[in-house]
This record gives sequence, C-alpha cells and structure tokens, in this order.
Amino acid sequence: MQICVIGTGYVGLVTGVCMADLGNNVTCVDIDKAKIDGLKKGVVPIYEPGLKDLLKRNKKRLKFTTSIKDGISKAAIVFIAVGTPPTKTGEADLTYIKSVAKTIGKNMNGYKIIVDKSTVPVGVGDLVESIIEDNSKGKYDFDVASCPEFLREGSAIYDFMNPDRVVIGAKRKEAAQKIAEIFKPLNTKIIISDIRSAELIKHASNTFLAMKISFINEIANICERVGADVEVVANGMGLDKRIGKLFLNAGAGFGGSCFPKDVEALRSMARNEDYEPLILNAVMDVNKQQRKIVINKIKQMLGTIEGRQIGILGLAFKPNTDDIREAVSVDIIRALLDKGCRIKAFDPVAAKRVKKIFSQVQYVKDEYAAAENAECLVVLTEWNEFKEMDLKKIKKAMKKPGIVDARNIYDPKKIKKLGFEYAGIGRN
Ligand code: NAD
Repeated sequence: MQICVIGTGYVGLVTGVCMADLGNNVTCVDIDKAKIDGLKKGVVPIYEPGLKDLLKRNKKRLKFTTSIKDGISKAAIVFIAVGTPPTKTGEADLTYIKSVAKTIGKNMNGYKIIVDKSTVPVGVGDLVESIIEDNSKGKYDFDVASCPEFLREGSAIYDFMNPDRVVIGAKRKEAAQKIAEIFKPLNTKIIISDIRSAELIKHASNTFLAMKISFINEIANICERVGADVEVVANGMGLDKRIGKLFLNAGAGFGGSCFPKDVEALRSMARNEDYEPLILNAVMDVNKQQRKIVINKIKQMLGTIEGRQIGILGLAFKPNTDDIREAVSVDIIRALLDKGCRIKAFDPVAAKRVKKIFSQVQYVKDEYAAAENAECLVVLTEWNEFKEMDLKKIKKAMKKPGIVDARNIYDPKKIKKLGFEYAGIGRN
C-alpha cells in the first residue's frame, strides 16, 4: 500500500518505519527540515531502541520529505501524527492538526483516507473533515478516520508490532476495512467503531492508567502512615486478575508527553460539557503532590535543604527514552535549584535535553560521578543500570550516604544494611 505519515516524532516515525517493515511504501513528512535531512541519511532524531536498525533495513520502502503535497500525492491512506500539546488551560492545542488538514485539503488529487493517529479531543475527526472539505472545495471524495496510537516510548517498535488491539473509528465501514488491512499482519483484535468513540477510547485508556498510578501513590502515602509497605500491598492487589499488576508502581508520579496532557484534555472536554470530572481532578492532584513528597523526603533526610550537594539519578520521564516532557526530574531540579542546591545529574541518554533547561546543573558521565560528594542521592528514573550499580562504591563517593528512592528500586533492608539512610515511597 502507498502510505503517507505526517509528523515524524515518536509516534509518526515509528509508525512510518513499522508500516514499511510490514511491506508498505511509506512517505514520512515533517516540517522540521533538519529532521528530514538527517532521516534521509539514516540519522534517527530520537532515542528509541531498535528504530535505527529497522529504518536502515526498510530504507528502500521509505521516503522522507518536508512537502505534504509530495507526501500525499500517491498515498491511498494518510496518517496524521503531529503533536497535540497542552495549552495553558489544559486543552489540546490543535494548531498543528488544523494546519496539516488545511494543507491536505489544498493538495488533494483523488480519493484518500485521512487517518488521525494523534491523540485528539472528541470531535476532531469532524473538524478535520470540514477543514479538508473546505480547502479541497468539495472536488474529491475522501474519508476521515481515527486510529489512536497506544505505543509506549522505550518499547515503541514492540508495541506497534504487538498491540493488544487496534482501534479504528470511521463513518464508512469500507474505509475502516481498508485501514484494517494494514494491521492484518499483526494478528491482533481490530475494533471498528464510530470516530467519536475511537477518540475517547484513547483518552479513557490513558486516563485509566494514570489513575492506577495516582491510586497506588495514594495507597503509598497511607502505607507510610499506618506502617505498611506499598510494594507488598501492590503485589497482593496486582495478583487479582480484575486489578492486574501493571501501573501499580508507587513513586514520584507520572510525567511524559501523554498522561498529564491526556488527563488534562479529558478534563477540559468534560468541563466544556458542564461536567465536573471528580476522579480526573484527584488523579492530577495526587500526581502533583507526589513531587512535593519527594522534596520533603530530601528535606527530612538532610534537615535543611538550602545549599546542599545533591546527586540526581535519572532525568528521562521513564527508562529507555530520552523524552523529558513533563518529567518529574525537571520539577525536582527546579525546586532544588531554587533552594540553592548544587546538583550533579546523570542519565544514560536524556541529559542533553535537560541541559537546555538548566545550564547550572553539572551533567556527569555516570552514577558514581553523580554521587561524588553528594549529601543525598535521589533516584528519579528507574533505569536498569541504577538497580545494578555498585552501592559500596556509591557509598564511598558520597559525603553522607543517603538515598531518596523515588522509584522504589531498592530493597530498604539491604540498602540500610550497607549503611545508607534510605527513604522510599510508601515503604515505612
Ligand atoms: P512529537 O512532538 O515527537 O512529533 C510531532 C512531529 O510533528 C514533530 O516532528 C513536528 O515537527 C511535526 N509537525 C508539526 N507540524 C507539522 C506539519 N504541519 N507538518 C508536518 N509535520 C509537522 O510528538 P509525538 O510524541 O510523536 O506525538 C504525536 C501525537 O501522538 C500526539 O498527539 C501524542 O499525544 C500522540 N501519542 C504519543 C505517544 C508517545 O508515546 N509519544 C503515544 C501515543 C500517542
């Protein structure tokens, strides 16, 4: 099939490359010329395990361009995968989606199916349809569909190739079936629905996962007060099939480009319809509170926080990605710098992005350098290498051996035995 993917970010690039791997000819479009120039030479602009190799393997079926007109000219199906970042009021910013729809409309040259892969508020399918209709002056027949993406950064290729389900929302069954053909080789459940339900499935799914995280964090905070251990509690809960083990890790809260923005966007959607979403409010409130709890734990460990030397382990919003959008690390570092702390930080891949925000932080080459002279070491991302590091060497490097484990990656008993002061989340 001839496919065009507009937007070559985390979702668009993975989608384009994976669809090429499934045997399709894919043209990837982005307005970022530097990105496209790099991609033409095989340079992948993001850190995503396996992506570079897959791109190389499929280079004959992949084209890169900055022109939507060229990208869509031969395409039967056009995927929109541009960003939908939050506005100041929490609604999704539709500037990029609208601009792409307008350009598609102006450059239509025959029947096409336009599929929205970006996460968008309910009703955007209709909006895209009307923008294309207006700008193509009704000259061509087309369908608009929604096919929300559920991949996770860090395991994006695996997730794309092994989805739990593919959701396709369309007005016409034939259009949905044509899109479904692309996903047939994946041997997964394909849910065909109306566009609005498909758009809401994405928001409801992400919000549910965010809710699980805030829920277990609330339980963690109760654990600390009643003398229970949240890791034991979460394990006991998670074995119940009705609850499930995933997303029950207590810690510093969720970040990233999806959960906070998608919960906010759903909140805005509800409020626009005069419905106050009480659970969603609590999900966000608890999440905000968790960051303050981490700062308080550092304070408690050190007595006073002003002017202290702190080591930070982990800057990415989660392991196996260099994405720092809405990362806990950014909020924690800002709060520590405000108190005059000196910070040495290490992340295996995300430091260069945080450097653009905080030039006064010292970005070091490994976990041991981050611990050098530190009075407290704070774990903010659960990278595997932090789980495996030589804690005796860490202790030697520190001025005062104390760890605030904001991702609960260590066994409190073992770590205390090594002579560390330890504070996890919900671990009494
Ligand atoms: P991103 O910011 O990494 O990428 C968006 C890309 O779109 C950028 O490269 C940008 O230059 C490009 N772009 C913007 N305007 C354009 C235009 N007019 N023409 C061509 N290209 C244009 O975003 P992302 O993380 O890939 O997210 C894309 C969408 O997918 C969002 O709605 C997001 O919520 C959703 N989503 C993201 C993830 C994730 O893990 N990142 C997962 C599922 C869904």
